[in-house]
Amino acid sequence: MAWQNRTKIVATLGPASNTSSMIAQLVRAGVDVFRLNCAHADHETLVRTISMIRQVAQKEGHAVGVLADLQGPKIRVGKLKNAEPIYLKRGAQVVIDATPGVVGEANGAGEIRIGTIYRHLARDVKPKERILLDDGNLELRVLRVDGDEIHTRVVYGGMLHQFKGINLPGSKVSTSCLSPKDLADLKVVLAAGVDFVALSFVRAPEDVVELRRHITRAKGDVQIIAKIERPEAVGCLPEILAVADGLMVARGDMGVEMGPAAVPPVQKRIIAMCNEARKPVITATQMLESMVLNPRPTRAEASDVANAIYDGTSAVMLSAETASGKHPVRSVQTMEKIIRTAEKSCYTGMGERMRRRPMGSKSSSVAQATVRAAAYAAYESHARLIAVYTETGTTANLLAGERPPTHILAFTPSQRTMQRLSLTWGITTRKIPPKRTAHALTVAGDRILRVEGWMRKGDRLVQIAGTIRETGLTNTMSIREL
Ligand code: PEP
Repeated sequence: MAWQNRTKIVATLGPASNTSSMIAQLVRAGVDVFRLNCAHADHETLVRTISMIRQVAQKEGHAVGVLADLQGPKIRVGKLKNAEPIYLKRGAQVVIDATPGVVGEANGAGEIRIGTIYRHLARDVKPKERILLDDGNLELRVLRVDGDEIHTRVVYGGMLHQFKGINLPGSKVSTSCLSPKDLADLKVVLAAGVDFVALSFVRAPEDVVELRRHITRAKGDVQIIAKIERPEAVGCLPEILAVADGLMVARGDMGVEMGPAAVPPVQKRIIAMCNEARKPVITATQMLESMVLNPRPTRAEASDVANAIYDGTSAVMLSAETASGKHPVRSVQTMEKIIRTAEKSCYTGMGERMRRRPMGSKSSSVAQATVRAAAYAAYESHARLIAVYTETGTTANLLAGERPPTHILAFTPSQRTMQRLSLTWGITTRKIPPKRTAHALTVAGDRILRVEGWMRKGDRLVQIAGTIRETGLTNTMSIREL
């Protein structure tokens, strides 16, 4: 058996890739988690795609995760007349009319009026503030607000298509974090059995808590990934991380909201914080952007992916590259190769890095101490692998947090846990039947190790007895030979 890369790949599905055969090719190319962007998919497509992923994953024998990305309080331009784009000329005056149902158009007299899906836009902006359209490619300056009408002047012009995003970098968006659309999408994806729900435009921990309340009420069992893109969220990262199961560095909107220069330091901070908290972190957006059109990435893109890996990201994400680009499979193959090469180049350093890590962390627990001891023991004893038995995935996540240079195989009786660990750095999963005793688990695990060829007789392994039946019981580490 060949070990997979430690860093996981998240790929967004869309019109270029949401067929069974493409999903299968993407899995074979190295995708661990598929992201479905609820902003762009209707309910029927969501349900059909999730079912296709599950079927393909079963056929390919790979525990693939599914992440549904909720739109959150994303503000968008409304419909344009005949769906025709409007050219916004520098210096021209544009009225954004927040009255429901406005269809945008440029009339014969040259007056431009556009609508928005956000009813309270006029309440949230003030004169002199900037309004960015289409990922910041177009910029308007607010002249005055008159009822529902926002009168603006074009600062940077260009073609405006309907439904493009609107960002308000200087303003606080007062809308609720979950729109009626988000709640309807949530209901559908929970019923379809996704593993993760990502929430866009999180502003404060309360947004995550509110989402969790809805999930609990619907009896859902999913993890929440908070997308960090708003400056308010960057101002309260520890609080958001405390209530979320993981974070996404959503560099697209972050670059619009905070400016591109703010992205690299924030990205590094978010990765470091998630590593410290032993929670997954996804580095997202424009990682191989040029591959939307071209068969090869730029050297800067290859470096960007590798640097996120050196910094300790759990996963790297593809968006338009796989959703709507010309080379979805090649993009994943390229990303896989960059990850493999980057990881190979830092293997030797990994043991040293682990060794230098300060002992006695703030959050020390018996489980933490056990996995840390296991990581060191595996390194010092030249073990071939670390076998971890885990019911909920908690122990596997803790172990991954040590970033051990030794490969990790996680055994679990739970399909749900296998799918969740698809986002955790360095974890390969195998299913074992539920067993009552630690001895029976070991026998079942050893059988897989031998039959699948992970180890040969006489090889050394480090074993961690996991959280069977109850979480928080990890307390046993042993070194033995198969
Ligand atoms: C982002 O803005 O970087 C992001 C991941 O969100 P979306 O793709 O939904 O815009």
